[in-house]
Amino acid sequence: MEDCVFCKIIKGEIPSEKVYEDDEIIAFKDIHPAAPIHILVIPKKHIATLLEVSEEDSYLIGRIYQVINKLAKDMGIDQSGFRVIVNCGRDAGQEVMHIHFHMLAGRKMGPKIVG
Ligand code: AMP
Ligand code: ZN
Repeated sequence: MEDCVFCKIIKGEIPSEKVYEDDEIIAFKDIHPAAPIHILVIPKKHIATLLEVSEEDSYLIGRIYQVINKLAKDMGIDQSGFRVIVNCGRDAGQEVMHIHFHMLAGRKMGPKIVG
C-alpha cells in the first residue's frame, strides 16, 4: 500500500526503532509512547483493520501473539504485566489503517479500559 506509513516502515522508507523482525511480522517503538514501554507489533501483510482479518490470516494473527509473548519475556515485563490493544475504526481512534497491536508496559495501567 503506497500511502501506508506502516508499509513504508516495513520497506525501510521511514525510519523506526525495530525491536523484532521476521519474514511476516515486525515490532517497533511507538513514536509517541503512552507508557515507558510502548511497542507496535504489526504483520508485514497490509491488513487495514481488524475487520479485514480473514480466516487465512488466522495463523498470522496467532503468531503475532507469540511474538508479543516472546517480547514480553525478552523485555522482562512478563512478571509485572502489560496491556495489548487493537483500535478498530473511528470511535476507537484508529489513526493508522494498517492493523497494529499496541503493547504497553512499564507503569500501572489503572482503569481496565483506556480512554
Ligand atoms: P492508532 O491510534 O491505534 O491507529 O495508533 C497509531 C499509533 O502509531 C500511534 O500510537 C502513533 O504514535 C503511532 N505512530 C504513527 N506513526 C508512527 C511512526 N512513524 N513510527 C512509530 N509509531 C508511529
Ligand atoms: Zn500498510
